[in-house]
Amino acid sequence: MGDDDERRRIPRTDRLLELPAVARARQRLGEAEIRAIIAERQRAAREGSLPVAEVEPAVERALSAAAASTLRPVLNATGVIVHTNLGRAPLSDAAREAVLAAAGYADIEMDLGTGKRSARGAGAREALLRACPAAEDALIVNNGAAALLLAVTACGPAAPAAPATASAPGQEIVVSRGELVEIGAGFRLPELMETTGARLREVGATNRTHPADYLRALGPATRCVLKVHPSNFRVDGFTSDVGVARLRELLDADEAETGRRIPLVVDLGSGLLAPDPLLPDEPDIDGALRAGADAVIVSGDKLLGGPQAGLLLGRRETIERLRTHPLARAVRSDKLTLAGVEATLRGGRTPVQVALHADPERLRERAEAVATRVSAAADLHLTVVPHDGRVGGGGAPGVPLPGWAVELPEVFATRLRLGTPAVVGRVHQERCLIDLRCVDEEDDEALAEALVEAAQGVRAEARQALDPNGERPLKPYRTR
Ligand SMILES: *Cc1c(COP(=O)(O)O)cnc(C)c1O
Repeated sequence: MGDDDERRRIPRTDRLLELPAVARARQRLGEAEIRAIIAERQRAAREGSLPVAEVEPAVERALSAAAASTLRPVLNATGVIVHTNLGRAPLSDAAREAVLAAAGYADIEMDLGTGKRSARGAGAREALLRACPAAEDALIVNNGAAALLLAVTACGPAAPAAPATASAPGQEIVVSRGELVEIGAGFRLPELMETTGARLREVGATNRTHPADYLRALGPATRCVLKVHPSNFRVDGFTSDVGVARLRELLDADEAETGRRIPLVVDLGSGLLAPDPLLPDEPDIDGALRAGADAVIVSGDKLLGGPQAGLLLGRRETIERLRTHPLARAVRSDKLTLAGVEATLRGGRTPVQVALHADPERLRERAEAVATRVSAAADLHLTVVPHDGRVGGGGAPGVPLPGWAVELPEVFATRLRLGTPAVVGRVHQERCLIDLRCVDEEDDEALAEALVEAAQGVRAEARQALDPNGERPLKPYRTR
């Protein structure tokens, strides 16, 4: 039989479209997506990489596995709580419910009592103000970077009593040289700020900045003073910086002398609602406001444990100025974010808090239960080793969070990532470490099953490689 005959036997599209699997898939997928899945298998058959008889089952399998989004849920077994590559903070149950509820029509800008237009996201704002009593007002935007952009664009001396003698009045952002951070993947705060047309007036040295450095920089050209909390690195040794309270004093003295009030903007990065004894170097929002910040910026999806958002809290005049700036419209949050932020604040403990405060002894018990179960089911001998978790992209650089991990050979890592559910462990020194800190206890069983499946895959591969004829008995696989 020639190739042409073979190709003519490839099932035609109209026939494949009649498969029951297509009818089921239509509840989740659009027609174009379904046709693309079919066309791909037909093409594979034409090219000879898929046997003709396999086209129909392959289409059925692909359709039943296909989801409308290619994003896959992942069990985070890295021990890194705010994992940038895994979507940072996982939402609480309350936040998930709220996001789903807001997904349809919702009264985001309507007072249902009067039927009239209302302030967008009033509930989320209220919840923020309750959580941070030192804030007079609050504004929620897309993310921390957008909040910073808005703040340094819209801020300016409230009463420019000083005549505009400088060539570009209010064009300088005064910031310590030690705080010009890169927040990740090549994104640098100084470059972001320069896109606003402002000049950065860098003060101090990388390791030390003194009050006098700020004082020398203040003048008619100052738009604001920015203080950035270094959330992803630490400078140790001969260092000093000027705290928020001291900056407030300097700016108050400047105001008394000149009549201009230069805003003090504080980018905290992570955003603890209250001080946490576990993270002594992480500043909290209320503390920064009490110390005298005019506006505080935090991300919603770091230690706060909510959806991606940028939260701005501070003095009434400052926040109002940001709210009414044209740029505010370009960075405004959507209803899903507003619902998620509000429910994160009003709901119970967030998964981030649970992971951060996980009891090491409990982590050990859980790891041992998983190791025992997998060892028995897959005929392995897995061990549990001490392992430090981390806060991750959310802050508290260098703070270890003592815990435990199931130790596996590195070959497990890829299989686990590609399994169902996908499990991402920490690959370190040729081992794959499974840390349960960021895994919901309810998922321990699914995690154990994924490990068993991966072990079976690894075993089958090893047997194939070591003993293609399948005759020599294999010893149980042992970790080091
Ligand atoms: C993370 C971070 C940002 C950026 O916030 P996103 O929410 O990621 O946009 C800005 N400043 C600091 C200090 C940060 O840690």
